[in-house]
Amino acid sequence: MKYLIVGAGLFGSVFAFEAAKRGNHITVIEKRNHIAGNIYTKEIDGIQVHQYGAHIFHTSNKKIWDYVNQFADFNRYTNSPIANYNGEIYNLPFNMNTFNKMWKVKTPQEAKNIIDKQRIKLGDRKPANLEEQALSLVGRDIYEKLIKGYTEKQWGKKATELPAFIIRRLPVRLTYNNNYFNDAYQGIPIGGYTQIIEKMLNHDNIEIKTNTDFFDNKNYYLQNYDKIVFTGMIDKFFDYQFGELGYRSLSFQTEELGIGNYQGNAVVNYTDDKTPFTRIIEHKFFEFDQSNPDKTIITKEYPEDWYRGREPYYPINDVRNNQLYARYAKLTKKVANVIFGGRLGLYRYFNMDQVISAALATVHTEFGE
Ligand code: FAD
Repeated sequence: MKYLIVGAGLFGSVFAFEAAKRGNHITVIEKRNHIAGNIYTKEIDGIQVHQYGAHIFHTSNKKIWDYVNQFADFNRYTNSPIANYNGEIYNLPFNMNTFNKMWKVKTPQEAKNIIDKQRIKLGDRKPANLEEQALSLVGRDIYEKLIKGYTEKQWGKKATELPAFIIRRLPVRLTYNNNYFNDAYQGIPIGGYTQIIEKMLNHDNIEIKTNTDFFDNKNYYLQNYDKIVFTGMIDKFFDYQFGELGYRSLSFQTEELGIGNYQGNAVVNYTDDKTPFTRIIEHKFFEFDQSNPDKTIITKEYPEDWYRGREPYYPINDVRNNQLYARYAKLTKKVANVIFGGRLGLYRYFNMDQVISAALATVHTEFGE
């Protein structure tokens, strides 16, 4: 079969790799000038720079962990971000280190007592908005210092105008454990993420064309391939005929600095509402090779509204958008030779492990296994 894969991100590349292994002929088109989608990393002076934001691989699924380890060796990076609230530094996720710094408490019971005292009690009532939801889960201090400003910047709206569902759970850890993720497996590929995609696409049956946008020749592609795997925007595929789905965008400002260590940690979240960016990542701390003592590279992340022409990073899965997506999803039945996949094709936020899992499920359906 002749397959066209639209998008050289993780979803498209897993599918291409698996389909090529099964003897199919694959053309991958990618509108950017490089492969790897949002997991793209680029080496600058020995530092692997995450060009589209911090990417930490984590999963509890051993099969997916083994699968991705075919393509790279992973280091033992453990995500332990810190929060900077107007110069006050706190550990994340909220844990006993955070509570000790905030209230000088030493025992889990002392921390629990303070949180319980500060939590608003909703009784049987559902939280009316994100602010009420957060206050009912963690109380005033944590909300004001570590949640409110960050979340409002992220979504470009006041917490009182945001739906409660954005924060379903706020895990409060009553242990001295700064490991952000609970997953069994976690790490960063030594040498960056791009090599993973390079290895997936390195096959005689796979041809790659970058700087090539599907929408420049949509009809040609639809007519000339047996099957298309489309990982671009589903609303655009259908000419936005029901209207645009909502997304959040981001812009990244990367700076090369002539010092060895800028912030001492890979990820620092700015949780106040005055600083315009949400976080700074210092790329060298994702890897343990600190061979470059006189240089570091940092990236500031600015959340932005999305409009046509900007990169859509996060789908906004509120009721309106989910209903709209459902209408587009119905249309996919009319284009039987197109498989929609990935975060834009399925309009869903996926972590990397989930996207690999979804791509493998698609492979199994496609090849009847
Ligand atoms: P993408 O990587 O977006 O790939 C889709 C590709 O299709 C893109 O390269 C795009 O240019 C191309 N394309 C789109 N339209 C067209 C077109 N018309 N023609 C040709 N090509 C097209 N996950 C984690 O597990 N851990 C993390 O720490 C993490 N951090 C993240 C941080 C940020 C800021 C973001 C935005 C995401 C993060 N993720 C993280 C999620 C991770 O990026 C995704 O799971 C993964 O990249 C999704 O892969 P994909 O193939 O679906 O999409």
